[in-house]
Amino acid sequence: MKAVVYDSAKNFTVREIPTPTPQPGEVLIKTELAGVCGTDLHIHEGHFLAEFPLIPGHEMVGIVSALGEGVTQFKVGERVTVNPVVSCGDCEFCREGKPILCHNRKGLGTNWPGSFAEYMIATQDLVFKVEGLTVDQAVFAEPAACAMHGAQMLGIKPGSSALIFGAGPTGQLLAQLVAKGGAASVVVAGSSQFKLDTAKKLGADATYLMDRANVKKTFEDLKALRPSGFDIVIEATGSTEVAEICVPLTRSGGTMMVYGVTESHETFAINAFDVFHREITIKGSFAEIDTFPATIAALSSGRLQTAGIITHRFKLDEYGKALETLRSDKTAHKVVIEFN
Ligand SMILES: [Zn+2]
Ligand SMILES: [Zn+2]
Repeated sequence: MKAVVYDSAKNFTVREIPTPTPQPGEVLIKTELAGVCGTDLHIHEGHFLAEFPLIPGHEMVGIVSALGEGVTQFKVGERVTVNPVVSCGDCEFCREGKPILCHNRKGLGTNWPGSFAEYMIATQDLVFKVEGLTVDQAVFAEPAACAMHGAQMLGIKPGSSALIFGAGPTGQLLAQLVAKGGAASVVVAGSSQFKLDTAKKLGADATYLMDRANVKKTFEDLKALRPSGFDIVIEATGSTEVAEICVPLTRSGGTMMVYGVTESHETFAINAFDVFHREITIKGSFAEIDTFPATIAALSSGRLQTAGIITHRFKLDEYGKALETLRSDKTAHKVVIEFN
């Protein structure tokens, strides 16, 4: 089979490698569509827990192609997606029922073979049926599951006001879940107008076009929009400069959530007295682990919309071009790799 293979950071080729054979309990899946994510840019650089050699890719939809011994829940020919996060089941956090905090966590496409390959292997507990969804919808299962985890972490109170920085694919999905989780108003702030137009179409109440080079103005404008602040402020851009204005824009008693991926060494400043005397909660939301069923249900019912988010399609051979497009093409929103 053909696959993207990294031998080390920044150093990949698209080449022929042996197609894996499913072992007991494993499912072999023929990839139909795989999403390229901002995380794949971090992995390209060797960051975000990447281990090499590596086949990247953690957002996919495909067709069950072969079953290992003992797999009973799936049939060859079914359309499925894969939860790429693997927990050990045995560390202190897994034993406490918090597998997302697993000490020995593995990620398909991060430090385990992923989906930028014609075929991929997953243990059956990570595989989910997506019958009834189109491939273009189902490829969003993983990023939407991350958004679902974020929404669950927030525990949105009906009637609250929300501000989301970042109109990337997961920002769009999270904005919808926050709105549908009962928020009375959702403002999405982003630095590209066409992404904000998509956010508006998908249900944001208002949008704000921000100049990433002038975060001070963004702060002033959003403060003027809602002087007492927002009950929920979500940082989904991965910029620590933006993160610094989140607590000051949070309403007293409200919550700031760190959702965007920064580099692991980056920090941002918070006024301790402000957090203390206004009783601000600061939460983090990393990935997903148990939200695939809820997410697939929300995609199936249409509660979660993805129309218009995919802007660019490439072949596997064009992986380098796909990364470059995501990195620097201002018209790129969700970039996908098509297989046939
Ligand atoms: Zn992703
Ligand atoms: Zn564990």
